Amino acid sequence: MPIRIRRRAGWMAALGLALLLAACGSAGSGGGSASSASQALGGQGETAPSAGIPDAQEGDAESAPSAGIPGAQEGDADDGAGQGIPSSDPVSVERRGELPKGFVYLDELIPDALFEIRYASDYNFVGAVIDGYKAPLAIMTEEAAQALKKVNEELKQSGYVLLVYDAYRPTKAVDHFKRWAQDMSDTSMKDAFYPNVDKSQVFKLGYVASKSGHSRGSTVDLTIADAATGIPADMGSPYDFFGDVSGHGTKEITPEQTANRELLKNAMVKHGFKPYNKEWWHYTLKDEPHPKKYFDFDVE
Ligand SMILES: [Zn+2]
Repeated sequence: MPIRIRRRAGWMAALGLALLLAACGSAGSGGGSASSASQALGGQGETAPSAGIPDAQEGDAESAPSAGIPGAQEGDADDGAGQGIPSSDPVSVERRGELPKGFVYLDELIPDALFEIRYASDYNFVGAVIDGYKAPLAIMTEEAAQALKKVNEELKQSGYVLLVYDAYRPTKAVDHFKRWAQDMSDTSMKDAFYPNVDKSQVFKLGYVASKSGHSRGSTVDLTIADAATGIPADMGSPYDFFGDVSGHGTKEITPEQTANRELLKNAMVKHGFKPYNKEWWHYTLKDEPHPKKYFDFDVE
């Protein structure tokens, strides 16, 4: 079954569409530079100011790195979508197909959701494909996936679908984040994901943790996107942005951005997920089936 992958500028370039993008005047090279990030943001409104925090942590749960990258950016390519370039085409992604008992592929259960699995690409706060991500797929426990399906159905009534950035995350990926956090020389993605955070503080500030709730299989990072265009809603900060602006209750975003976060949050909470105060995109199923177990099988 094809999965609806949302592509960013970098991916398009990789696909040989760079010229087309250039012709459209849409951003550039995918590199995640500050200027491209701000263009992206400006163009799409995807994020607001700055700041954020990566997804990671959550005290106990999330940990590691969390970080991520902001969602919007990169070229935002997304903008390309607004200019006639499809933001998401169903594509076939080869998958191993034999998941541990009780786990499912989200796209098989929720075929009209969108997927942009950042850690399976080099557009994330680390700037490299993360260990354990062998395919751009989202895997969750069946319980969490069924609840998420209800969330998606509900949001469709408002003209949105879910856009998933990450779901189950192997512990080896979290270890990769930890290694990255300890290498002070590697700041290649700072402009896009943690412009206001000193890398030496990412552990202390909680952006990277040694364990992640994602490894338990019932935690997801996601946003909402226009069902017709695939363009993500403006949440006031990109996915995986390390900073206060990424937290619920921030005063640094507009009422409209707050309303978008609330739309997602209300639907998630209604169907059994709990929000994480520091990251608008991070949710965990309240009654998760493996509250103490951390898995390490690859995403493939
Ligand atoms: Zn998360």
